[in-house]
Amino acid sequence: MAKRDYYEVLGVSRDASADEIKKAYRQAAIKYHPDKNPGDKEAEEKFKEAAEAYDVLSNPDKKARYDQFGHEGMNAGAGGFGGGFSGGGFSMEDIFRNFGDIFGGHFGGGFSGFGGGGAERRVNRGSDLRIKVKLTLAEIVNGTTKKLKISKMVSCDKCGGTGAKDSHSYTNCPRCGGSGYVTQVVNTFFGRTQSTSVCPECHGEGKVITAPCDKCHGEGIVKGEEVIEIKIPAGVGEGMQLSVSGKGNAARHGGVNGDLLVLIQEEKHPDLERDGNDLIYNLGITIPTALTGGAVEIPTVDGRAKVKIEPGTQAGQVLRLKGKGIPDINGYGRGDILAVVDIVVPTHLTSAEKKLVEQLAESPSFTKAEKKRQNIFDRMRSFFS
Ligand SMILES: [Zn+2]
Ligand SMILES: [Zn+2]
Repeated sequence: MAKRDYYEVLGVSRDASADEIKKAYRQAAIKYHPDKNPGDKEAEEKFKEAAEAYDVLSNPDKKARYDQFGHEGMNAGAGGFGGGFSGGGFSMEDIFRNFGDIFGGHFGGGFSGFGGGGAERRVNRGSDLRIKVKLTLAEIVNGTTKKLKISKMVSCDKCGGTGAKDSHSYTNCPRCGGSGYVTQVVNTFFGRTQSTSVCPECHGEGKVITAPCDKCHGEGIVKGEEVIEIKIPAGVGEGMQLSVSGKGNAARHGGVNGDLLVLIQEEKHPDLERDGNDLIYNLGITIPTALTGGAVEIPTVDGRAKVKIEPGTQAGQVLRLKGKGIPDINGYGRGDILAVVDIVVPTHLTSAEKKLVEQLAESPSFTKAEKKRQNIFDRMRSFFS
């Protein structure tokens, strides 16, 4: 395809002044700006074509050469602009880097996303919502699903979350011209620097509402409720936080919802105390059971388990019920129930009982026992190590 005449591209006459050329380019650039024509390849080509024309016609040397030799004169070692010229047009980045200032603060700067996936637009995001959920040990062991009614900001149903009365209640933001960004030129030691920031007028949306929705007063969100199902995996623990994506507060003007953050709290079990994925149970047995053995029942998360007590069981001894603890949240097996033996000493004896115990105390097994007593601290150390 033959290159169009640069004057034709900008729609100016051959004797147009530098100001007229600049103005014409500015109009073309705004018209074909990729922000206004997302995904439009033809507009992008026109945008680049105008930039190329302006590059030449705004530079006295290049303009003189072009006036004399036309496009041929430009290709013959014109050098200059990034060399990209003779190679066939510039990139969007080149254009914004070199002509950003032409947009007079409306566009330019901050367009590093160009040439790739297009301009980065700021999107409103709703705030995160935090709730606490109290779980029983059984719920923690088995995992559970909680259905909760949650008060939160929801999208306004009257305006569909736009905040506008109807589809005509918009105008391009006067401050940023619709780009959502404002560019400021700052003078520093190193010269003039451009800084781009989100437009304070439209908060990056590029448009402003002229007639707000009367239900949400232009916010696009209202106070509401939502029933949310929260799947809680087995093995969670006190203080853990689950994040349910997109279930937090709705955003202004139809942006992205925040997340729902669920803080886990544990309800205390009457008998079992959690230690990591293990459950500790304080198992009290009678002196006769400790002496002669027997069977006792231990509470588990979902019922009771029968446990055999060996004759001669000592206080502090730990009986392990394998796999009766809490499943690991990452799937690494399951903890145990650790039943720590406590020998219950009666605090009151009848005189008949007292006589029997005194008799026992004289017998050989009981006089020996005192000397063989294991140090309780050694036993605790071996248990916890
Ligand atoms: Zn704006
Ligand atoms: Zn509304």
